[in-house]
Amino acid sequence: MEFRGAVLDVDGTVVRGDEPIPGAPEGFDRLRRAGIDPLFVSNNPTKPASAYVQRLGRAGYDVDADRVFTAGTLTTKYLTEHHAAADLFVIGEEGLVDQLVAADLSITDAHDDADALVVSIDRGFGYEDLRTARWALDRGIPFIGTDRDLIIPAPEGDVPGSGAMIRAVAAVAERDPDIVLGKPSEPAIEFVRERLACPPEACLVVGDRLDTDIAFGERAGMTTVLVRSGITDDATLETSEIQPDHVLKHLGEIDRVIG
Ligand SMILES: [Mg+2]
Repeated sequence: MEFRGAVLDVDGTVVRGDEPIPGAPEGFDRLRRAGIDPLFVSNNPTKPASAYVQRLGRAGYDVDADRVFTAGTLTTKYLTEHHAAADLFVIGEEGLVDQLVAADLSITDAHDDADALVVSIDRGFGYEDLRTARWALDRGIPFIGTDRDLIIPAPEGDVPGSGAMIRAVAAVAERDPDIVLGKPSEPAIEFVRERLACPPEACLVVGDRLDTDIAFGERAGMTTVLVRSGITDDATLETSEIQPDHVLKHLGEIDRVIG
């Protein structure tokens, strides 16, 4: 198979914190030399694409701004297309709110007057949030999640991600979200299709996570590559229903797929 495009995850796939993952820069260069167009897709909702371009640059990956997007980019785009005139009640961090405000979306503190509820990772999340979310959703307004990551890696260990807050709100509101963006959502697949000018069968997806990265590739009909440089341990890989087409120690072994 001649591959022409690659969707690359960021955390656990090409960087850990601000450091490149050993072997990954060589794998990235190898993709480019093979004429494979890379597109970085992160499920982080609190950072705009520009922050990721800088972060990737510091780690030695030279990428253009239009080759990177995050769950924040995707949530902003989705809200602009579907809820442009809505007053949004947001349970989430400043980094997400800043992206929404920059896109001229309207944020409200009044749960009883909001037109939609957006839920995301919030390190200050608490009882008050659950109560207001319940009251807001009792009014039947749309319930939108930024990404489904239940647990995310942090320097101090694995910590709760957006998925944990979304599930807590869903439990107390006794209803599921109307949509959860990020990988592996349908809007993420559409977004990639618009930006990678190649058919899915000529496209690779490389990531360290089964339920987001590999599930995304499966849904999109792309060839999936799990790298073991991130969050997936042996037990998870052995027992998961989601199985990648290829398993590599790290991106530096990409020749085993494209060579
Ligand atoms: Mg990752």
